Amino acid sequence: MRYADIAVVGGGLAGSTAAAMLGRAGVSAVMIDPHAKYPPDLRSEKISTNQLELLRKTGLVDAALRAGRHDRQIWTARFGYLIDKKPSEQFGILYDTMVNAIRGEIPTNVDTIEAKVTEISTGPGRQTLTLSTGEQISARLVILSSGLNIGLLHQLGIDRQVISKCHSITVGFDIAPVGRPAFDFPALTYFSERPSDRSAYLTLFPVPEGMRANLFVYRDMEDPWLREMRDAPEDALHRLYPRLRTFTGEFRITNKLRIRPADLYVSTGHRQAGVVLVGDAFSTSCPSAGTGTDKVFTDVERLCNAYIPAWLATDGMGADKIGAFYDDPAKVACDAWSNATAYHFRSVSIGESLPWQARRWARFLGRRGQGLLRRLRAQVRGEAEAA
Ligand SMILES: Cc1cc2nc3c(=O)[nH]c(=O)nc-3n(C[C@H](O)[C@H](O)[C@H](O)COP(=O)(O)OP(=O)(O)OC[C@H]3O[C@@H](n4cnc5c(N)ncnc54)[C@H](O)[C@@H]3O)c2cc1C
Repeated sequence: MRYADIAVVGGGLAGSTAAAMLGRAGVSAVMIDPHAKYPPDLRSEKISTNQLELLRKTGLVDAALRAGRHDRQIWTARFGYLIDKKPSEQFGILYDTMVNAIRGEIPTNVDTIEAKVTEISTGPGRQTLTLSTGEQISARLVILSSGLNIGLLHQLGIDRQVISKCHSITVGFDIAPVGRPAFDFPALTYFSERPSDRSAYLTLFPVPEGMRANLFVYRDMEDPWLREMRDAPEDALHRLYPRLRTFTGEFRITNKLRIRPADLYVSTGHRQAGVVLVGDAFSTSCPSAGTGTDKVFTDVERLCNAYIPAWLATDGMGADKIGAFYDDPAKVACDAWSNATAYHFRSVSIGESLPWQARRWARFLGRRGQGLLRRLRAQVRGEAEAA
């Protein structure tokens, strides 16, 4: 039996961030994950300005940014029309690169164990984990950061309430211009043209490996469009966004598409002694709203900075202690915002009713107004400097 104060189950973004923060704070912890290196997977592939701020609070921002690529400016467009060129603090970084960079920050005082947790038993005193290797771990607290895997949660009587099945589908791929060394834009967000596109937007952004694309659609997995996209992706994309060429020119998709549906769910029965759920293990987000990483960093930052030090300073790990984390105002606000944004994005992209059409146009005109103002200001500044 191995002993630690904290056992982190799952070394994705949430678990690795928690393990690095706890290790740096000198807390006795172990992290268990079946993969020594997080494998390539389609998940969050960039860090937005807001997420950068949250990541700063974890103390891990430098490691993540070193492995990513800063885009500096994003062009936004719709109907083949350039709406804005905004300065940007966004960093493109493939998910496995980001997780592995954060894992690289886990200090040596945290044991990382390459195994799967197969059994879990919890209570107000100590918790016991059994691993696929047969080893057992005893800890005062288990952080369950096992993502979408429901197995261990079921052992604890925790369930998932699916609130929106296949809320959206993300398509991820690498893209390159044909006949030119680079695209004209540093990064581009191209919004859907009509609700019948059943799409939110396409985002093209630089990662250290080249130009990456994420396309977000609201369809079901049996939609024939997905087969067209798999068979002839360039043609399917041109049919979806006929005026995208204005910005991209001819392009080719240079690798196999990854297509991932996302369900929105929340956990039920999770307020228990000895175990706390973070990241996707607690609840999911809609990829097109881009709020999943905000949720991960908010969960882990609040848990490791505000709660764990106090919990370890007193005896026991009762459900009342754990409940304080789930009621944390910043966490509650982040989860509510993420959920509301998921529904808002869907409705503003594909809602056919008059109010949603009006909002779509208001959004377009608002962004266009901002773009014009920005260009005007830049022009005035340029003239003032020249004078
Ligand atoms: C397609 C897609 C696109 C997305 N795009 C965005 C985006 O653009 N912006 C954004 O902010 N968010 C996005 N998200 C959401 C974001 O990526 C997730 O919220 C985040 O990755 C969740 O991290 P996690 O650590 O909770 O889970 P994961 O990264 O899934 O980690 C779970 C870990 O637990 C391990 N594990 C599972 N079971 C066990 C076990 N029994 N024992 C030990 N280990 C176990 C797994 O091996 C894995 O390493 C996207 C999500 C998806 C699916």
